[in-house]
Amino acid sequence: MEREIYDRDRAGVSDAVLLEDYTSDDVFIANLQKRFHENIIYTYIGQVLVSVNPYKELPIYSEQDIQTYRKKYFFENPPHVFATSDNAFRLLIEENRSQCILISGESGSGKTENSKKILQYIAAASGHVESVESVKDKLLQTNPILEAFGNAKTNRNNNSSRFGKYMDINFNWQGVPDGGDILNYLLEKSRIVHQNANERNFHIFYQLLSGGDEQLLEKLHLKRNFADYSYISGGDILPSTDKNLDDANNFKVVMNAMNTIEIPKEEQDELLDIVASVLHLGNITFGVGEKGHSTVYENEAVHAFANILGIEFDQVKKCLTHRTIDAHGDLVTSPLNRDQSFYARDALAKAMYARVFDWLVETINKSIHTPTSTSRVKTNHVLGVLDIYGFEVFETNTYEQLCINFCNEKLQQLFIELTLKQEQEEYLKEGIEWTPVEYFNNKIICDLIEEKHVGIISLLDEECLRPGDATDLTFLEKMNERLASHPHYIFNSSRASLVIQKLVHRDEFQLRHYAGDVKYNVDGFLDKNSDLLFRDLKEAMSASKNSIIKLLFPSSEFLLSRKRPDTAITQFKNSLNNLMQILASKEPSYIRCIKPNQLQTSDNFDFELVRHQVKYLGLMENLRVRRAGFAYRRTYDAFLERYKCLSKQTWPNFKGNPRDGVQIIANELNYGADDYRMGKTKVFIRLPQTLFMTEDAFQLKK
Ligand code: ADP
Ligand code: MG
Repeated sequence: MEREIYDRDRAGVSDAVLLEDYTSDDVFIANLQKRFHENIIYTYIGQVLVSVNPYKELPIYSEQDIQTYRKKYFFENPPHVFATSDNAFRLLIEENRSQCILISGESGSGKTENSKKILQYIAAASGHVESVESVKDKLLQTNPILEAFGNAKTNRNNNSSRFGKYMDINFNWQGVPDGGDILNYLLEKSRIVHQNANERNFHIFYQLLSGGDEQLLEKLHLKRNFADYSYISGGDILPSTDKNLDDANNFKVVMNAMNTIEIPKEEQDELLDIVASVLHLGNITFGVGEKGHSTVYENEAVHAFANILGIEFDQVKKCLTHRTIDAHGDLVTSPLNRDQSFYARDALAKAMYARVFDWLVETINKSIHTPTSTSRVKTNHVLGVLDIYGFEVFETNTYEQLCINFCNEKLQQLFIELTLKQEQEEYLKEGIEWTPVEYFNNKIICDLIEEKHVGIISLLDEECLRPGDATDLTFLEKMNERLASHPHYIFNSSRASLVIQKLVHRDEFQLRHYAGDVKYNVDGFLDKNSDLLFRDLKEAMSASKNSIIKLLFPSSEFLLSRKRPDTAITQFKNSLNNLMQILASKEPSYIRCIKPNQLQTSDNFDFELVRHQVKYLGLMENLRVRRAGFAYRRTYDAFLERYKCLSKQTWPNFKGNPRDGVQIIANELNYGADDYRMGKTKVFIRLPQTLFMTEDAFQLKK
């Protein structure tokens, strides 16, 4: 019990609400640091779990550890992701309350690892029931597949998830997982055609080339050499010692997982055909022909691409060098120049891959929607896990960061609503009076971004749909004009102060996010948001003999609808709002992940780097809200069990009502009238000092 809550010198405090100075981020971070150096990576802020990535295997995730946390309350054991998992799991099973666990943090902070531990815990804790073992297996096996297609080596994380993921796990009436459902967000598709120095494309390409057998590679017209393919050789192609990057072995793992998920062999083959065809597509190049029109070099790659996807060679050439537009019902075809051909080629590669990724998620979903989970009467037996990128603030921020940071604003809004609500409800339930906390409501920033007709998203869409001379800069001008007076929108103009003129460049705008100021460069906004794919490319794809590609590029897309599809950011906004609804219907738990250093090494705690994350995760605000009421609360039973030795009247056993026992101890220790409150089932202690004093007395007596 309470193994280390009070071992302040060795391992700091296990719950930051117990810090005497809870307003100082120095104190907060020093506590994390002290614990980190003792290999204690988890710390609470109330019920929020803070996790610092150890960058080394710690012996804390064994079957034995799972048992330690099984059916225990938070305070009985040191902080752990298993405690968070167990708590959510029990509220779900025992009280029938739908749960979600929200994991956030920047890239490399350990979100995905923690989400896997949750799944591991749930799978182990829910017992062995023959009939659902295969479902559990499938749920666990979704990870390697999605990671192969959605993760990549970046400068921040060798196995970085380049998409956001929300997974619902459904439970049957016995409390055993019997199905699931995955939603994916914002795959970083630009990575398909470009990687920064020392980064890689998605793992699957390297896995296929390293792990595919001779016969397979021959069939796909592939050579084993990464450097032969322009889409994967822009960044890092050196072999690595990281087990995440054991490509040949991981290929086997992925193919096995596909079998477990029961993706039919023919579909697996077609999927690999598409992966290969993207590699070939990247090797198609163009020359300048008559009148400056683009021509396709007839190299191996074009033939391989056409061949593998089963599209006529001539159609492949034509679709990459022409553009057809529908002008009021008349189709007008015009030739592209060389640059436009490269643009079209890359747009096609991105569209193919992104759509195949969606297809993969959907295919996995079909497999993990067990007949029981889809047909049975809806129960509340759902536990959701959200693994999504935290706030991003880079040297240069652009369209992608705006989407991600918008997502974080929305999550913060949910957090405020739900945590404050939770606190309030607990006080109400326990019959304790309390004054609501003052907090910054970030709705104003969410509105600035998403409000219909006037928000940034609407202005961007307007500019994307406006025929004529719209550019990134006209978009910026429009925002500067319309949003000039908004307190959270800052821009450079001749009227702006010199400080701002220096700070925010002419092609940037700055948003005052809840977590801090972020500058965005407008370069590429229109293009990324329009996400245009020429009709000719869609037409060629829909003629493919590959049934997945055919399905993903239906002819209806260019034949029937003249209406433009929603822009990328509007689709994202809609899917986010959908996510918020899903989350709001559940009871949340939070895991906030922190990366201790940029080098991905163990035993290295970079104080300033952590400070930055503490700020953007809003942890000090968390702590403030938590401390605004009572720092500590504990059931009468638990409190009495621990401290009964502090009074002769309660030692060794108190026969009466535990509440009375606690009252006796409080009197014995001279608690001030305002230091604590007696609720219906719990004692609430306002300041940590009171608790320290109690604990010190306990240690003396022990
Ligand atoms: P994120 O999903 O936040 O980008 P990951 O979960 O992929 O980060 O973690 C990055 C890497 O850090 C992992 O590949 C692993 O090597 C290491 N790591 C993260 N969490 C842990 C942990 N709890 N124990 C050991 N290593 C970890
Ligand atoms: Mg991840």
